[in-house]
Amino acid sequence: MSLKVYNSLTRQKEVFEPINPPYVGMYVCGPTVSGESHLGHARPFITFDVVYRYLMHLGYKVRYVRNITDAGHFEEEGREAEDKISKKAVLEKLEPMELVQKYTNLYHWAMSQFNNLPPSIEPTATGHIVEQIEMIKKIIQDGYAYEANGSVYFDVEKYNIDFSAKGQPYGILSGRVLDDQIESTRELDNQDEKRNKSDFALWKKAPAEHIMRWQSPWGEGFPGWHIECSAMSTKYLGDEFDIHGGGMDLQFPHHECEIAQSTVCNHKMPARYWLHNNMITINGRKMGKSYNNVIKLSELFTGTHPLLEQAYAPSTVRFFILQSQYRSTLDFGNDALQGSEKALRRLMEAFEWLEQQDGLGAIGAATDTALDEKVNTLIAEFDEFMNDDLNTAKVIASMFELVPIINSIKDKHIATTALSANTVTLLKKQLHAYIKDIFGLQNSKANNNDKLEGVLQLLINIRKEAKNRKDFVTSDKIRNELSALGVQLKDEKDGGMSYTIQ
Ligand SMILES: [Zn+2]
Repeated sequence: MSLKVYNSLTRQKEVFEPINPPYVGMYVCGPTVSGESHLGHARPFITFDVVYRYLMHLGYKVRYVRNITDAGHFEEEGREAEDKISKKAVLEKLEPMELVQKYTNLYHWAMSQFNNLPPSIEPTATGHIVEQIEMIKKIIQDGYAYEANGSVYFDVEKYNIDFSAKGQPYGILSGRVLDDQIESTRELDNQDEKRNKSDFALWKKAPAEHIMRWQSPWGEGFPGWHIECSAMSTKYLGDEFDIHGGGMDLQFPHHECEIAQSTVCNHKMPARYWLHNNMITINGRKMGKSYNNVIKLSELFTGTHPLLEQAYAPSTVRFFILQSQYRSTLDFGNDALQGSEKALRRLMEAFEWLEQQDGLGAIGAATDTALDEKVNTLIAEFDEFMNDDLNTAKVIASMFELVPIINSIKDKHIATTALSANTVTLLKKQLHAYIKDIFGLQNSKANNNDKLEGVLQLLINIRKEAKNRKDFVTSDKIRNELSALGVQLKDEKDGGMSYTIQ
């Protein structure tokens, strides 16, 4: 039974065959650390953490590269003069690298809360300026990029003409044809520098006030966003690697641009399998600033966003995300999350009870052969469903058919000999492999850290109330005494409050 994954490039499920088994190279686009990660970011990182864990479970030696974008991500596609990091650094009155460090730390904190394993390599865009410049030089030499006024643009039209002839047009991944793309591109900055509207920046000349700048053959400037992923994936995974992952929103233009850049430089399609997770909606709506429904991860864990009825433990959110197959849409709402919280607790209670039992099951034949057979079928489904494009939803459904059976043994409604000892051993082994190693689930029951978070949140709320009624003696007392304990409170611009523990 082999693993099949849906390849966005070919639009079909394909048997996963690594280029150089048992090694697997996987590149996943990481965060832009100009702000705090939100709920929408949780899905790709949890999805690909499970892909990483499952590949290792299958025995592959995986090199998982997930970058940190700390330069070059423009504020708006096409509006290339504004770099997100530079803009936010000015706003927050921080050195750009101070800002990057702050949000990288927060991101790592959130990832560990989710029990995501760290990637094998986590390269940064600013750490790979030289590699990006070298790649841009190569693209210019090959005639697919041109310099204009200190900036360098990729010549999409020329690429499309030449590579269409080779069966690899621009738009091969997203299915967009170039004419549509030109139609939909609005008039934005620097269009006069570009030969065609669909051309994208590989390097941008830094305006005088731009604080992040590097020397290049084209003068002082900074790299475009797309080139960093091509440069870093090539450096760490080679010209051709196995899996490239990310959210569906990255298919166009980001991954399309990566394909074009890497193909010109390395004369190969960079990755064989392109995996994309679907998006999360909030109460049926797309997430967006204008809807006021962007829930930061720290708000989610503490229940401090107005849309939240309560705090949700990271393990609950992780479980909620895995309850859907990664390519299906997923709608976030309090009811759904509360359902996940209860379900996870029920699953973990049965699992943890079973883990602690020794000597369950009949030595020799089971006394209830039909039940024994049913349990074996359900266990076998775990691998079957995971191998069918990583269908975590169906695996969890099979687990929930096992939960009442485990509970019946626990409550002595079924004899401990109903199942054979071999079946019980297999059940324990497979549940452990899937719950702990592959899905990375933890019991969401409040542990001491959660309790501490709860106490801190309570103090923050009391302090807020004190401030609202202008009782500054109380509010200062809370701040100062927490500070003496090594807990620093900080007022955020949006009226919220964050804390750091030293
Ligand atoms: Zn990327």
